[in-house]
Amino acid sequence: MSRNYYIRTFGCQMNEHDSGRAAGMLETLGYRPVASETEADLVLLNTCAVRENADNRLYGTLGHLKSLKDEKRAAGGDLTIVVGGCLAQKDGATVADKAPWVDVVYGTHNLPDLPALLAQADSAAIPVVELIEQLETFPSALPAKRSVRHHAWVSIAVGCNNACTFCIVPSLRGPERSRRIGEIVGEVRALVADDVVEVTLLGQNVNSYGRDLAGASQFAPLLRELGTIEGLERVRFTSPHPRDFTEEVLVAMAETPNVMPHLHLPLQSGSDRVLRSMRRSYRRRRYLALVERTRELLPDAALTTDIIVGFPGETEEDFQATLEVVAQVGFDQAFTFQYSPRPGTPAAEREDEFISAEVMGERYKRLEDLVREQSRAVHQGLVGSTQELLIESPSKTDVSRWSGRTRGNHLVHLPAPHQVPGERPAFAPGDLVTTTIVEAATNYALAGPATSVRHTKAGRAAAEAMARGEGWQHGGSLDAPIAAHRPGSGASLPVLSVS
Ligand code: SF4
Repeated sequence: MSRNYYIRTFGCQMNEHDSGRAAGMLETLGYRPVASETEADLVLLNTCAVRENADNRLYGTLGHLKSLKDEKRAAGGDLTIVVGGCLAQKDGATVADKAPWVDVVYGTHNLPDLPALLAQADSAAIPVVELIEQLETFPSALPAKRSVRHHAWVSIAVGCNNACTFCIVPSLRGPERSRRIGEIVGEVRALVADDVVEVTLLGQNVNSYGRDLAGASQFAPLLRELGTIEGLERVRFTSPHPRDFTEEVLVAMAETPNVMPHLHLPLQSGSDRVLRSMRRSYRRRRYLALVERTRELLPDAALTTDIIVGFPGETEEDFQATLEVVAQVGFDQAFTFQYSPRPGTPAAEREDEFISAEVMGERYKRLEDLVREQSRAVHQGLVGSTQELLIESPSKTDVSRWSGRTRGNHLVHLPAPHQVPGERPAFAPGDLVTTTIVEAATNYALAGPATSVRHTKAGRAAAEAMARGEGWQHGGSLDAPIAAHRPGSGASLPVLSVS
């Protein structure tokens, strides 16, 4: 009898990626995905320790799942409950103590053990808990599932060697471990053969990729190597760390046409004093010089960033320094966060320097206003330009529109292609269309009808599925014949970056 699974993912792209691999392993074991916890025989919670109150939310969810498990048992069935990810790594056996109805708890380095842990749980009367402190080998050979056919996440490194004082990631994901370049390229080639046209390289600090293997960053050579793969239309990456961003990488980006002109460069603060207390090893001058050099080498590049407002001890003068940098750079988009303490991090212990909610909220609003104004100006600047969009999906709210992304990752809505029942639409998700931008809004732009289309294998498959009346959104196949894994989720970038 086939069994059903449901995965709930909390947190960042790294977790989305891990959930795709967990889904791949479960499907290899014969499980089938379902749309809700109530239909599932197995629920996996892939947890995040970065978000505020993550533990309260986890135990609340586990309480709800206990009721569901009791109901299923009363009806003669059962529910297997699995907790994985960063919070599982942080809380470890505490999860099993507080919620003994859980079947499996595994840490960030134990994902490859999931099938064995489920087998153990079958005959165990208490929760099976598996946590190791460090990754022993890079988990390259795991099957995984993509949620859309044309896009894949590809992990190039895990862990982080930095120690930003607000961040819990290094203590949960361990030191940086890079994957061999040949393995990455092999995986990307397999993905392209399986209809992927865009990959997003994933690491906590992609610029230092390969330093543990070769003594120096191998990120620029990796980008150039990916530039040789025929059929790979777009390469993106997240997140780079400003300290490690080298001229060599910028030149590689400029000289490799399929590497997209978009840099997500986390600023966090524009004040040197705050950067120092965050233990961010660059300063405002270095950051601005990097932006300037980027503008010289990649004049069309889009720049996005992350900023934390109200870090412990931040003064009005520090905050002004952040506003100045933001005003000077003119970001296409900025992801702004109000500081909230993460237990286990050095910054969380500086309670006497916490900023009041009112001051934080007021600063946040001023920053948000500036960021919105800049973003609108950037989108306004696109009006009249010709852009090539990678089509992502029909709009969820407006049947007359579809959405795509420019090379710079700007979200653009354009008129939906004419659809005749039983026939293929003129373009579909995964295709590349050329169009002209006609209007701007704060977070997106509007375009006129497509003037030309470059069809891709993924686009054709989606168009055929639509002609048959099926949904377009189906992921790629699961396993690869080589030692490749298939990162999951085609969610748009960026969700949350902590680098
Ligand atoms: S914020 Fe990024 S660079 Fe800093 S410790 Fe966390 S993961 Fe590493």
